Amino acid sequence: MEQRDGLYIVRHFIDNAFVDAVEEGTFETLNPATNRPIGVVADGTAADVDRAVRAARRAFDEGPWPRMPAAERARYLRRIGDLILKHAEEIARLEVLDVGMPIAQAGKGAIPRAAENFYFFAEMATRITGETYPKDGEFLNYTIRKPVGVAGLITPWNTPFMLETWKVAPCLAAGNTCVLKPAEWSPLSANKLAEIVLEADLPPGVFNIVHGFGERAGAPLVAHPGVQLISFTGETTTGMEIMRNGASTLKRYSMELGGKNAAIVFPDADLEQALDGVIWQAFSLNGERCTSNSRLLLHRAIYDGFLERLLDRVSAIRVGDPFDPQTEIGPLIHPEHWRRVRGYMDVARAEGAVIALGGDRPPHLPEGNYFAPTVIVDVRPEMRVAQEEIFGPVLVVLPFETEEEAIRIANDVPYGLAAYIWTKDLARAHRMAHALEVGMVWINAPNIRDLRTPFGGAKYSGIGREGGFYSFEFYTEVMTVHVALTPPRIPRMGIR
Ligand code: NAD
Repeated sequence: MEQRDGLYIVRHFIDNAFVDAVEEGTFETLNPATNRPIGVVADGTAADVDRAVRAARRAFDEGPWPRMPAAERARYLRRIGDLILKHAEEIARLEVLDVGMPIAQAGKGAIPRAAENFYFFAEMATRITGETYPKDGEFLNYTIRKPVGVAGLITPWNTPFMLETWKVAPCLAAGNTCVLKPAEWSPLSANKLAEIVLEADLPPGVFNIVHGFGERAGAPLVAHPGVQLISFTGETTTGMEIMRNGASTLKRYSMELGGKNAAIVFPDADLEQALDGVIWQAFSLNGERCTSNSRLLLHRAIYDGFLERLLDRVSAIRVGDPFDPQTEIGPLIHPEHWRRVRGYMDVARAEGAVIALGGDRPPHLPEGNYFAPTVIVDVRPEMRVAQEEIFGPVLVVLPFETEEEAIRIANDVPYGLAAYIWTKDLARAHRMAHALEVGMVWINAPNIRDLRTPFGGAKYSGIGREGGFYSFEFYTEVMTVHVALTPPRIPRMGIR
């Protein structure tokens, strides 16, 4: 990527060219480990969005992309997957620099997964099918799935590259074109994807990027009449705002929103596995993860013992330079987010909870947005720290006595993204899973995901599902074709 005076130059990507903002504005992106600038980013406005949507529209209405055989589109997608793996080290480095996620977790997890998204949806593209409804030899009705048009893809700053590919791959596989609006705090790696798209030789206008802030660049994308689809991942309140904003142009939405996910541990669980799973799911990716198990529901019979072992392990988690392969937690994304997470510590104390571990900046890391892994106890379900998404390395622990009580506590939040159940009693595990008001449940495992399965949340965690064929429910238009096999009886009008 282009650099000037040690800063990355992050332009928009429109019609296969890197371009400055129409109004020539820029903003800086910061290194979360130091809060010093690392890049100068095009500050998108409605004029840039319009330019990008027009390019995507042209590519959709006149270009080869929606018209080529699915197998040919699949070849392009596989090429993108190959190039992601070829450039994996550079992408991981950009992601760590821009976001602060530990290199071990970017390199081994998020980046290979991004390539996998392209390989997977390349294959899926060739498997889009329709349905037939034969009717007594008189009619044959059948459905076909067509691309919808131009998609606006709006993404958050946590694991940005992986989440961007999670949207871009199925969107393009189905034959749509798109405008991606990456989060303003993490713009770097999206431009690496643009370079890869160029290297893979995609037709111009198929994939476009407009950088910028939510209100100035995201909102005009949502309101643009040339855009049919909005796939959004981010905060619930932003999702609500987007739905209001797109109502007058009748957008189709996929909404992947916040979570306050519970891990529920019973005494009969493999407690060693449960401990590993709960810690990983709460503190990996700096706790900035929508499927984090940010609430731990512990059965009273094991509360003290499990908590003691948890505190011992969490206090040994290595916080530090995200480029150090030994680091397990890096800095939070931005000082503003650090203050938000830190603010919850005061909220916890004011409500009577006890911060058993962490709760502030680790003393050995005086600069950057580092936050010590934190465990909060003496928590009641109605407290704000048990209800609201903190989105940092913060775990709140609540005791329970019965299955019914665990279900009640787990369900008693506005969100409904995921839950984790740890028990060896299979019947109980299934019973619990069915009673939980969430989109996804893992039994005796952290979030290990099969790309064929539907991903998404219930309640305030989202609308719709993506993954496998569910992605094509969103990214394709279903058309029904009715064919008469014999001349049908038609009521005759206007006969003299
Ligand atoms: P955010 O809602 O602040 O921003 C997300 C994106 O929306 C950014 O690109 C932002 O610029 C844009 N945006 C903001 N206002 C907009 C507007 N009015 N119109 C159009 N676009 C607008 O979220 P964030 O802080 O970047 O990300 C963290 C949130 O994302 C957390 O709540 C987390 O749970 C959620 N998340 C959910 C999933 C999931 O799959 N359910 C996955 C990852 C993150």
